[in-house]
Amino acid sequence: MTVRVYVGLGANLGDRGEALLHALKGMAALQGTRLLSVSSLYSSAPVDATGPDYLNAVAALDTEQAPQAFLQALQMLEQAAGRERPYRNAPRTLDLDILLWGDERMHGVALTVPHPRMNERAFVLLPLQEL
Ligand code: AMP
Repeated sequence: MTVRVYVGLGANLGDRGEALLHALKGMAALQGTRLLSVSSLYSSAPVDATGPDYLNAVAALDTEQAPQAFLQALQMLEQAAGRERPYRNAPRTLDLDILLWGDERMHGVALTVPHPRMNERAFVLLPLQEL
């Protein structure tokens, strides 16, 4: 079964554009997954955090993967980009969030969708609206 998924991408360390491009290619290459469209890139100051400005975008994908497997694949892409988690909301080379998983609602330990903070964040809502 294929499900339409929306992923939020963000980076505020290193070559932000390169990190987002690399992540898009990585997601497009996931098994049973097709990249459908990508929003414009948005630059904005960090919310609830300090550090350089973020570059953000949202991607729409169709995937046959299960939610947990897809989340793990995103986390591997974050790690491959050199992501570290020294403290909450620390600056990051790559952040990938599952915003929407079809029209499903999930409240698992590892995965909550729709993403709990997406409605407060213009850097998510603006690119999502584009798609
Ligand atoms: P972050 O620091 O933003 O990368 O948060 C990663 C943590 O959020 C991981 O432990 C995930 O299991 C958890 N998480 C919960 N819901 C989501 C979601 N919708 N997308 C991505 N990570 C999520």
